[in-house]
Amino acid sequence: MAAIAWIGLGHMGAPMSAHLVAAGHDVRGFDLDRDALAAASAQGVRAAESIAEAVDGAEAVFTSLPRNEHVRQVYDATAGIWSTASPGALLLDTSTVDVETSRWCHAESAARGFRFVDAPISGGIPGAIAGSLTFMLGGTADAVAAATPLVEPMAGHVFDLGGPALGIAAKLANNVMLFASLLGVAEGAQLAASLGLDPQRFFEVASVSSGDSWPLRTWYPAPGVVPTSPANRNYDATFATALAEKDLSFALAAAEASGLRMPVSGIALEQFRQLIAEGHGGKDASLVAKFPSPDGTV
Ligand code: NAD
Repeated sequence: MAAIAWIGLGHMGAPMSAHLVAAGHDVRGFDLDRDALAAASAQGVRAAESIAEAVDGAEAVFTSLPRNEHVRQVYDATAGIWSTASPGALLLDTSTVDVETSRWCHAESAARGFRFVDAPISGGIPGAIAGSLTFMLGGTADAVAAATPLVEPMAGHVFDLGGPALGIAAKLANNVMLFASLLGVAEGAQLAASLGLDPQRFFEVASVSSGDSWPLRTWYPAPGVVPTSPANRNYDATFATALAEKDLSFALAAAEASGLRMPVSGIALEQFRQLIAEGHGGKDASLVAKFPSPDGTV
């Protein structure tokens, strides 16, 4: 059993920290949102009133925060993790941040005597609830070795990617592939329908042919074809459009810094930004592949 702190008990942090409690760890959590804190506390997380109280005596500190600026602030604030955590504590960030922020967390943690692991996740809210997330770990070999048994109660797969910020690199590169595939599925599905193919029948063909992909099997955009598709549930988010926009913008920034062109991702990013501008940032990212409805509503 380990003493663990968890900062950020939202859609992902709450179910993930509950798995650590179920595995027998003593988990103390903090969230600015009182309702989120109360919900996590009902799952066995001990509620703290501040970051300092949560991390006091903790051997490991997890963060699950919305964006770069929240992660930077939670680490670097006057009463943040770096100034209040126990010397030598293992710090694990499961948030999706950009490569620059992840590298900064590694460098600044090391300068203060902490081991830091970038530990982004794939699998969404259903994976967090089921404890079947894919963890992509980046850090020094000893930090990743220490992190691995701690993330296992939340994980279906755990990968050591071999160095600082390489977990985030894997997460962003994976999502570049996901969203490029999604746009391809969108266009193929629309073409099939417009040429008179039955969506269910066409899905049966594509899913055993070279058009097969994860978004095809999970997010097929016509209602009633695959049970997991957000198209069946008015595009309620399993992976929100706002998060897709964030991940792709980080991937494109990393590509630009490396002198790499990613025109397909640029088009996908534009599509997500348009959906957000139309007020659909909270809807599922697969809305980008939506079949037109007769009245034009979502
Ligand atoms: P969320 O907004 O539901 O949860 C974040 C929580 O952090 C909120 O409860 C918020 O109150 C809290 N918070 C913000 N600032 C804080 C501070 N200074 N101190 C304490 N708490 C603070 O977000 P989420 O969906 O749980 O996602 C968390 C991270 O995981 C994000 O980086 C996201 O990109 C990543 N992620 C999400 C999914 C998903 O499907 N939701 C999948 C993979 C990765």
